[in-house]
Amino acid sequence: MAGLYIHIPFCKKRCSYCDFFSTTLLARQDEYLAAVAKEIEARKDEAAEPIRTVYIGGGTPSTLSIGGLTAINQLITSYSIAEYTFELNPGDATKEYFQHLLANGVNRLSIGIQSFQDNLLRLIGRRHDAKQAIQAVRMAQDAGFENISIDLMYALPTQTMEQWKADIETALSLHIQHISCYGLMYEEGTTLTRQRDAGVIEPIDEDTENAMYDYICERLKKAGFVHYEVSNFALQGFEAQHNSSYWDGTPYIGIGAGAHSYIGNVRSWNPKNLDAYIRGIENGDLVRESETLTEEDLYNERIMLGMRTNQGVPDSFVSRNRVVLELLKANGLLRETEDKRIVATQEGLHVLNRIIEDLMI
Ligand code: SF4
Repeated sequence: MAGLYIHIPFCKKRCSYCDFFSTTLLARQDEYLAAVAKEIEARKDEAAEPIRTVYIGGGTPSTLSIGGLTAINQLITSYSIAEYTFELNPGDATKEYFQHLLANGVNRLSIGIQSFQDNLLRLIGRRHDAKQAIQAVRMAQDAGFENISIDLMYALPTQTMEQWKADIETALSLHIQHISCYGLMYEEGTTLTRQRDAGVIEPIDEDTENAMYDYICERLKKAGFVHYEVSNFALQGFEAQHNSSYWDGTPYIGIGAGAHSYIGNVRSWNPKNLDAYIRGIENGDLVRESETLTEEDLYNERIMLGMRTNQGVPDSFVSRNRVVLELLKANGLLRETEDKRIVATQEGLHVLNRIIEDLMI
């Protein structure tokens, strides 16, 4: 089984925390989609395994017109797709758009809500409000979607624990199947980072950030969600199949500007530049950079990806750094499961990146 990712690098407006590759030049969508179509055509059999999951992400895929979306769909109708995810901004939600997505085979939505607090949504530059976010989920459910994920963010400047708890209760009241939750990162070059450096906003302290993370883990567990990856929670059977393939080494083809692919120990990526991508596809000379993973890289990759999940890695796999492993266990940051796998404890999840670095070679 393999996955197909299609990157739609267009946003109506840039959010103040985001450093993803995207542009607000929506007028260029048609030429971009024409290039995407050519790339899919050229690479559709590259994985040598049948495509079973499709993920249209961005940017903001819901900036695509219904016509643009249909054009993409026509290229993938031959696949027998188990999971077809589409990312949507609540500000783009309409009954017609949802009906169209369903008619095109989309069976999973990922809605970028981030917060149900209007003041926080304004602060991070989102273009929707809380009411639109709730309406988007309800509209999608009315249209017939039964597999909906939402994104929520914590550790936002001025965000209080009460607001965070209220957000989680609102999310639960919507009866969705999946929640991805991300702590705010101050990425280089973003508006929010500039505001922090200028003293306009103040990051919340680390203890509150950890408490917010612990709270969602605990509350969602109580509500029946499985915490299957450090940032992801799902009701049983609704774990994201496509994203899970990133964590377990399944091959995937990434289409579009800046998209990454992973096939047979080779990782490759398209230029993160709209002009270079479109020109390269049109002229048939697209330069995709690549690297072949060494045995060491593969070991590190498995540690890095495995430790993010609730499956961890088999104890027997950690062949090196045994002393560090024992030390991390003794300090309560890692534990061994009954089936002899090494997983992070709740305490360990707070410092997961450091643990991963310690275990890597
Ligand atoms: S967070 Fe999403 S919608 Fe906002 S700028 Fe980044 S890619 Fe666009």
